[in-house]
Amino acid sequence: MLHPILDGQTPSYSLGKLVCVGRNYAEHAQELNNPVPDHPLLFMKPATSVVNLQRPFRIPQGQGEVHHELEIAVLIAKPLSKASPEEAIGHVAGIGLALDLTLRDVQQQLKEKGHPWERAKAFDGSCPVSCFVSPGDGEWWNALEFSLHLNGGLQQRGNSADMLFAIPELISEISQIFTLQAGDTVLTGTPAGVGPLSPGDELELNLNDQLTFSTRVI
Ligand code: ZN
Repeated sequence: MLHPILDGQTPSYSLGKLVCVGRNYAEHAQELNNPVPDHPLLFMKPATSVVNLQRPFRIPQGQGEVHHELEIAVLIAKPLSKASPEEAIGHVAGIGLALDLTLRDVQQQLKEKGHPWERAKAFDGSCPVSCFVSPGDGEWWNALEFSLHLNGGLQQRGNSADMLFAIPELISEISQIFTLQAGDTVLTGTPAGVGPLSPGDELELNLNDQLTFSTRVI
């Protein structure tokens, strides 16, 4: 599967792993009664979790609540290992939006047992991702506004300025542990306002007015 690039100026990339960060916005950590971490809390989703966010997508049934977590997704252009924040930001091919779909009840049970989260977060279809657009010039990572309207009402709104770990530091930190390759994606955490999705829900998404689209849960 290839990541589609909206502006046509950057080449398509083969889909790789997705490295995700938990609790990167203080208000979201608070809404789930989680402490704010000293270091980024990292987990991964496999390439098989990705579906197109700009088409209607399915959610699992009969396993409790499926929460949307709207996140800025960052597509990596070139291999990157043990990079500084300055180097890391030079390896970004594009930015987009993703939903880190989470089986919240399953995750709660896993957390209580101290088990890994993959059953709740890495299942097939757990990562609807949009196409990517080129990031702007200058310090673009400091002022990315994004939002999710659910059935017409504002449900999540975030700004990258509120991240606990900014995008350059985040990619740098990830690259100390996992080599990032072209086509890998970093999900940068969700702001407050997560909640359950149901079949039939209509979603409108916006990233910095560069990327605006609607989609639907089936
Ligand atoms: Zn998330």
